[in-house]
Amino acid sequence: MSVPGPSFRECLRRSGFFPFRAAAVKILQLNITRRCNLRCRHCHVEAGLEQDRQMNDAVLEKCLEVAALPAITTLDVTGGAPELHPRFRELVARLAALGKRLLVRTNLVILQEAEFADLVEFYARHRVELVASLPDARGERTDRLRGAGVFAAIIAVMRRLNSQGYGRSGSGLVLDLVHNPVGAYLPGEQGALEADYRRVLAEQHGVEFNQLFCLTNCPVGRYLEYLQSSGNLADYMLALQAAYNPAAAGRAMCRETISVGPDGTLYDCDFNQMLDLPVAGNTPANIFSFDHRALAGREIVTADHCFACTAGAGSSCQGATLPTADLQRTAAK
Ligand code: SF4
Ligand code: SF4
Repeated sequence: MSVPGPSFRECLRRSGFFPFRAAAVKILQLNITRRCNLRCRHCHVEAGLEQDRQMNDAVLEKCLEVAALPAITTLDVTGGAPELHPRFRELVARLAALGKRLLVRTNLVILQEAEFADLVEFYARHRVELVASLPDARGERTDRLRGAGVFAAIIAVMRRLNSQGYGRSGSGLVLDLVHNPVGAYLPGEQGALEADYRRVLAEQHGVEFNQLFCLTNCPVGRYLEYLQSSGNLADYMLALQAAYNPAAAGRAMCRETISVGPDGTLYDCDFNQMLDLPVAGNTPANIFSFDHRALAGREIVTADHCFACTAGAGSSCQGATLPTADLQRTAAK
């Protein structure tokens, strides 16, 4: 995939960010399985029930060892649907015992299945922060992207989570939602969208959440296939490129994150993982040779898909990377 005009690397160079280096490794993101009970149209992982890649025992044990390093402050468990890993409960309990910030990226729908229903209480007991994709506060748009009946299932599970304390102020139990556009366009302003979600979900469905994270769809996996088959790829890439924001490059999540694949390979982020782009050069590229110091100063592997992280207010697994005020200041320059 290439885009006419300056490449991502050239944009980095022009804005003084080349070579593009990590600043630290604080977040350890574990992709423990590619299996998923859903088949969302925008999925960069191309997850589904037919996928069989999952983290083996040796890699999982080594990840637990690395997770305990003092420099790692945030543990982020993802997939696929991470709940489908056979050692999921044990992994989460052991990560929680480390006393660090612990996030699980869940599609929520799986918590409706009898085998996983107890996880609502399990998550609360281990004080796990939940991050759940809800592309739109309107059911029809969400179902278009994620499958018929998904919106209703998410609302039903949110009610159970709310009754456990999740998303309620003062409980300390965090339920964050992720918005991403349903088509080939960039997301709107995160604060305004969060206010809209909060109003619609409370008034129409009686459910609450903490924060909304806005994610710019990255042209990888099924979303790339959608852009290609709908003839939108070139225009989408141009839109991302035109919105390149050097301030967002400085805040890209890869600058503080390392992503671990099911076989222990290390990547700069989950997107690079799906593109088979391991960490580069002389940096140890496997969890078994994890070298915190080398990884914290590594050069990050970039290509034009990275424009998704640096458009406008920036985009990351934790939403926009720049506050609106900063964005306005940048635009005014
Ligand atoms: S986006 Fe998430 S819930 Fe949907 S198929 Fe991919 S991993 Fe599963
Ligand atoms: S796609 Fe990955 S490597 Fe590229 S800027 Fe985003 S987080 Fe960094």
